[in-house]
Amino acid sequence: MGRAKKRKSEIEALKREMGAAWARWNVEPDAQRQLMRGIEPLHQGPEPTIAMARSLRKLLEQAKVDGSVEEAVAFIAAMVNATVRGLSEVPIACGKGCSHCCNLWVSVSALEALALAKLARKRGDETMERIRDANDFTQRFSHGDRGEHPHPCPFLESNLCSIYDDRPASCRQAASEAADICARSIFTTNEEVPTPLPYLVSRTMYGIATACALREAGLDHKTYELNNAVVRALAVENAEARWLAGEDIFNGVQVEPVDWFSKPEVRQIHQIAFGHSVDI
Ligand code: SF4
Repeated sequence: MGRAKKRKSEIEALKREMGAAWARWNVEPDAQRQLMRGIEPLHQGPEPTIAMARSLRKLLEQAKVDGSVEEAVAFIAAMVNATVRGLSEVPIACGKGCSHCCNLWVSVSALEALALAKLARKRGDETMERIRDANDFTQRFSHGDRGEHPHPCPFLESNLCSIYDDRPASCRQAASEAADICARSIFTTNEEVPTPLPYLVSRTMYGIATACALREAGLDHKTYELNNAVVRALAVENAEARWLAGEDIFNGVQVEPVDWFSKPEVRQIHQIAFGHSVDI
């Protein structure tokens, strides 16, 4: 198939796939136009991020009614997948079986921690025990120190992600230009993993949209460490319902040090998306 024909068929497939997604998540026509390929990292302007924040906020209100975070988590995953598919021409060194980054701090939203706890419960005692064991080790190290203390993610099996379709948004957007640097960086902290700019921008934009939507829905918008947050979600009875009711069930869990709303550009996007300002 020629390049132009291949591109056309990809766009048709995307339209079919996204059409089903829009109906499922009741995405407004305007937001559909902005998010047809997820948030495009090199788009000039905040419109797709704003569309993402507004659409997710609606889903969060529905989540409170349903008592389930599942659709909101699935929506974020589908949008991030669309973005990453659009980056297929950006050269990266990552591939199947390469899992250096699965040994470092993995960031999750409270939504994702709750969804992963549900998944772990379904998988049974062995999976839950693996998560608790990993947390026993990793909870001793802060976000800044963790690079010096690598430890495999409890969902990593034979260097493959055992929850690939359900992995967090941060894992979907992990990318490196040099696998050898990744390999070294999990034992030293002074080498920066060279991440292609579109992936860095994508992570930031989804982080902002998710934080704005959660805050507007009156829900906890912090970004947590995976093991510590999932262990908490497993330990709290009726964690999902209580969190959706506004209870601070993740209080004291290891968190990323910088709050999204300390950044003026995040407060500005929130203001445009929802028409009012927020405090730091
Ligand atoms: S969830 Fe999967 S991709 Fe993410 S760190 Fe764990 S094993 Fe790796």
